[in-house]
Amino acid sequence: MSKADLSLTQRLVTALLPARSAAIEAESREWRTSCECGHEFSVWDAGGVRFKAAGSPTVAIRCPSCRTVARRSLTRTPPAG
Ligand SMILES: [Zn+2]
Repeated sequence: MSKADLSLTQRLVTALLPARSAAIEAESREWRTSCECGHEFSVWDAGGVRFKAAGSPTVAIRCPSCRTVARRSLTRTPPAG
């Protein structure tokens, strides 16, 4: 993903915390949800950022596939290994 693909939120956060940007992106990618259209995506895919968070929150998030905004519960799925 090139810098041009980042959302405003993601550019702000990575600009403010350049040393943490890789960790922030990695953690944001671990928080995943799925849409009614069947598309599965991460907070990062949706242009959001989630860092140093726990639990199973419900947030309003836009599906990158069908563009529907809805409140969806996020599940953290650490990468295998
Ligand atoms: Zn969708």
